[in-house]
Amino acid sequence: MSAINVNAISFHYTENAPVLKTVSFEVQEKERWAIIGKNGSGKSTLLKCIGNLLKVKSGSISVEGKPVTSYRFKELARLIAYVPQAGNRSLPPYSVREFVMLGRFPYQGFFGLPGLQDRKIAEAVLQLTDTDALADRLLHTLSGGELQRVFLAAAVAQKTGILLLDEPMSFLDPLHQAMMQRSLDRIQEEFAVTILTVTHDVNHALNRFSHICALTNGAPFYIGTTVRFKENARKLLQDIYSITFSEISSCNGHLKYYLPEGVA
Ligand code: ADP
Repeated sequence: MSAINVNAISFHYTENAPVLKTVSFEVQEKERWAIIGKNGSGKSTLLKCIGNLLKVKSGSISVEGKPVTSYRFKELARLIAYVPQAGNRSLPPYSVREFVMLGRFPYQGFFGLPGLQDRKIAEAVLQLTDTDALADRLLHTLSGGELQRVFLAAAVAQKTGILLLDEPMSFLDPLHQAMMQRSLDRIQEEFAVTILTVTHDVNHALNRFSHICALTNGAPFYIGTTVRFKENARKLLQDIYSITFSEISSCNGHLKYYLPEGVA
């Protein structure tokens, strides 16, 4: 059984302005998918449809073998955690520890208070995401990079098998990017999660993800393994972004990097 099955979905916000056009792909457990494409190509919309934040207009999405729309809210929140883009977040007046504890909501009753187990999980997640030193700080006092990791921590505290991340590396300097990547590696190792990430960093996508979903104008342009993408990466990247790329190798020759050159 696949973790996620996206079956010929289409979506629009307004009639006659399609945003997603017959997109299909299947994600197996523990795979890491990067969703790439130009601004406005439908990446965030796709992620929101998978998380059932938006309802597809046609086609269907299954999560763990059942239509995503068939789950009750808390039931789905035990399967999927979603981290929105940095610009689209409101900050409640909570400390980091309290906020991460909110990630335990799918496991609590209507008037439920966090129990010992919830506290233990939250503490473990704070450490795993390098946010334990921030635990007593209020959210609004954090830098953009710190907030990114705290939002990830709250999502991980949900203890889901699937993480949907919308540009988790944006606004991060190279050090914080590396720390975020280290957190993601640890999370995947420890909790065996399936990760779908919207990213603008093609080198990050090609070097750290197992699969690529590239959209052009809302339509699937490339769906498949990163290994196969790399066989023809320069041409594919040019077609996706309408810009030429040069290819360079890392010092040890193990990795290839792609640098944007100019409008194609
Ligand atoms: P991407 O993530 O690839 O940048 P989005 O999925 O955010 O693209 O947006 C795809 C298209 O849908 C864009 O043209 C955008 O302007 C439009 N769009 C996104 N959100 C809304 C909305 N809430 N209402 C109307 N149009 C929207």
